[in-house]
Amino acid sequence: MQVKELSYQPKHVWERLELTEIEKLELISKEYIEFLSAVKTERECVEFAGMRLRKKGFKKDSVERGFFTYRNKFLAAWIMGKKSITEGLKIVVSHIDTPRLDLKLHPLFEDTELAFLKTHYYGGIKKYHWVAMPLALRGIVAKKDGNIVKIVIGEDPSDPVLTICDLLPHLARKVQGEKKLSEAIPGEKLNVLVGGIPLVAPEEEKEKLKDRIKLNVLKILYDRYGIKEEDFVSAELYLVPAGKAREVGIDRAFIGGYGQDDRICAFTSLKAFLEVKEPDTTCLLVFMDREEIGSEGNTSAKSRVLEKVIYDLIKGAGLPPNPDVFFEVISNTKVLSADVTAGIDPNYVEVHDKLNDAKLGYGVAVSRYTGHGGKYMANEAHAEFLAWLLGLWDKNKVAYQVVSMGKVDEGGGGTVAKFFASYGMDVVDVGPPLLSMHSPFEVCHKVDLYSTYKAFKTFYQG
Ligand code: MN
Ligand code: MN
Repeated sequence: MQVKELSYQPKHVWERLELTEIEKLELISKEYIEFLSAVKTERECVEFAGMRLRKKGFKKDSVERGFFTYRNKFLAAWIMGKKSITEGLKIVVSHIDTPRLDLKLHPLFEDTELAFLKTHYYGGIKKYHWVAMPLALRGIVAKKDGNIVKIVIGEDPSDPVLTICDLLPHLARKVQGEKKLSEAIPGEKLNVLVGGIPLVAPEEEKEKLKDRIKLNVLKILYDRYGIKEEDFVSAELYLVPAGKAREVGIDRAFIGGYGQDDRICAFTSLKAFLEVKEPDTTCLLVFMDREEIGSEGNTSAKSRVLEKVIYDLIKGAGLPPNPDVFFEVISNTKVLSADVTAGIDPNYVEVHDKLNDAKLGYGVAVSRYTGHGGKYMANEAHAEFLAWLLGLWDKNKVAYQVVSMGKVDEGGGGTVAKFFASYGMDVVDVGPPLLSMHSPFEVCHKVDLYSTYKAFKTFYQG
């Protein structure tokens, strides 16, 4: 042992990759950019994964290689392993919801002969990110007759986009400039501009018809989608950044786009899962919803829907679905809570602990614990489990960094890890670091994308 080997000296992943791996990384990056550009809601993510799974022979009722969806926003897929299920499962779980602006229940109004849609933001956003930029409207309207109408406006190059207008700087000195950043743009002002042409009407009726701009928007919606104003109450329509994800940087080191928290983990775990061949341990891929608002609701990690999947697997293996067997499975189960973390931003180094936080380009980041100062409200992975995982990755040349997020007293966040831990499973947070996290244009490094994919694949297969 040489003395210099005693200290920990991480190296940039790019310099550790072989040429064939760099070629593979570029291919995965291209595929990921297409995925990010096409999939912007949790329903679309479940639909995308379902398509990919079916293509690879997975079936909804299969014991060996099957999948299950719930309310179109939760997905679990499995591959039965060679070993008994009582020796545990390997689960990679990511969340497929992203911060966005939801339409309010009664969103449409007209003011000063302009039509707007009112919104209520979902998840942790900085409101100033969402003004003066092109937005797309995506989602569904559930009609009382049972029909589901899909809506996407603002993505096709021939589509119009929507936007939230910001105040010009000339008049913003007091109403915005003198306020705190968090208060400068109130939630109630996140109204989306959608119309400016009055409905054509005979001269004698014009007087009687109120809000003709709004009516014209409703007429266009009715002609195109068959929906009326009252149908908004049973719709799930989101405003998301319009347009495609892109390579970023003169050297194309990065990928920029909306929704990478956490669809970068959904994408990489799905890709890894689809490539798993005859695993020893039964593998489970899980997509969950509502993480960004605290995992509330029946498609979230707090719901008990996953228990049904595990009981089905137990029955499929020919074992009795009782609590004893369930706990035997659970107590031997290993979980990667696949979620992104904050990369060190050198422009805001004051919030980071440079020795402990994640660096872009240094591989998949393992957050042993999340939470706030004092480790509140978070899971912390046990030393033994972590050592097992890192040993496996070392053997398979997976590039990783073990990190924390931010200085101790600076803030924090949580993931779905604690909900899995509550069953007794071993779980640790794993995912790539991002810059501009929770913004409309999040940035990841291509080598971290690749390392994340490789980490999941090794975990399932190894
Ligand atoms: Mn996340
Ligand atoms: Mn998040």
